[in-house]
Amino acid sequence: GKYTKEDIIRIIEEKDVRFIRLQFTDIFGTLKNVAITSSQIRKALDNKCMFDGSSIEGFVRIEESDMYLRPDLDTFVLYPWHRSHGHIARLICDVYKPDGTPFEGDPRYVLRKTLQEAADMGFTFNVGPECEFFLFNNDEFGHPTTNTYDTAGYFDLGPVDVGEKIRRDICLNLEEMGFEIEASHHECATAQHEIDFKYSKALESADNIMTFKMAVKSIAHAHGMCATFMPKPVYGVAGSGMHINMSLFQNGKNVFADPNGENGLSDIARHFIAGLIRHVKGCCALTNPLVNSYKRLVPGYEAPCYIAWTSANRSALIRVPTARGEGTRVELRNPDPSGNPYLQLAVLLAAGLDGVKNQLKPPAAVSTNIYDLNPVQLAEAGIESLPADLKEAVVEMQKDPLLREALGDHVFQKYIEAKEKEWQRFATTVTQWELQEYLGKF
Ligand code: ADP
Ligand code: MG
Ligand code: MG
Ligand code: MG
Ligand code: MG
Repeated sequence: GKYTKEDIIRIIEEKDVRFIRLQFTDIFGTLKNVAITSSQIRKALDNKCMFDGSSIEGFVRIEESDMYLRPDLDTFVLYPWHRSHGHIARLICDVYKPDGTPFEGDPRYVLRKTLQEAADMGFTFNVGPECEFFLFNNDEFGHPTTNTYDTAGYFDLGPVDVGEKIRRDICLNLEEMGFEIEASHHECATAQHEIDFKYSKALESADNIMTFKMAVKSIAHAHGMCATFMPKPVYGVAGSGMHINMSLFQNGKNVFADPNGENGLSDIARHFIAGLIRHVKGCCALTNPLVNSYKRLVPGYEAPCYIAWTSANRSALIRVPTARGEGTRVELRNPDPSGNPYLQLAVLLAAGLDGVKNQLKPPAAVSTNIYDLNPVQLAEAGIESLPADLKEAVVEMQKDPLLREALGDHVFQKYIEAKEKEWQRFATTVTQWELQEYLGKF
């Protein structure tokens, strides 16, 4: 490990850390934390910090509510943007039951379980996410809006481009926290940005995604702006995705690469792709978890709607970028950043491993632009569509036994229950669109 308990206690003293946030994530991807003062750090490091699991959505009922937090020492880090009254540090925790066994509803545990399965097959799972987000203005009361000054062609670009400054600030803060930022750029839509950090082992990547989202939101807030990872905040422009780049390593070597294989890809890579294709519909309720997610997955914005893979086309669901050697990877392009990264990576790994275990063969790679094909041609090529909405995605999730197996009964049931209710709320809401279209006309 990176740190021992004594290291952490020493750093807390040396750096004048006043508060330590003990963090975990609920099944819907919301970061939760309990702040302790530095006087309590020994207790926390001895796994004696408790919380009431019944008040966390998707966790447990009142009768079985005591939960213990076990800090993962390697996740200890100081928040660089808090330093006015002493530092604030955080530790990401695993959630345990009073009997000392891991809590099945802890998303980190769900990912650990699937990673163990990969490890038993000799694999390390590496993941590099590309998170997109929007930076919007707040209104006079500090509430988020979808307004922005960042309109190309407007006169206030250049020195007063708020987005650019915030993006730089985010990158510098993340670097101080140990992130290796590979790229950061303005995205297609006005007010939209992307920041890419280097891939790492999946558990660390999932932790990083949680940290990333929190950092982006905090730093934007400090600049008086609102950062959102909502998948499609504005009609008619591109939404925010989170492409997930994946590879399997064995003994430190990327086993997706094979110089003698077709297209430089190994059989393992092909099986993995086939597994993803088999289970992608069932995974959608996790990779694209919101009612709003499906408004991004429409033709015309480089977001995928059809189930196909390719080595070229940027609108395909699965792309194999040209890099070979250590950078050989499979890029899944439908996920968005509004989900729970632990559960997302767990089900995608389970899907890929299913392909590897059963030596599944992927369909032929598609080289034409799928969006030029008509429904008949799509059917002839055997190209199916992703679920059209959250309701369909939940049905697909229930149809695919791999999902229950990968998530475990607890998470599977709680998740579906909540998503069915979310859909019901949406389906019965009278929207602004309906009022505009119908109120005067009928
Ligand atoms: P794109 O061309 O799709 O915009 P980016 O350059 O923005 O891709 O992001 C590529 C991501 O893939 C980065 O996070 C990078 O670290 C990651 N990556 C590179 N090699 C691997 C690998 N072997 N396994 C997983 N992820 C990888
Ligand atoms: Mg990118
Ligand atoms: Mg790029
Ligand atoms: Mg992008
Ligand atoms: Mg990409």
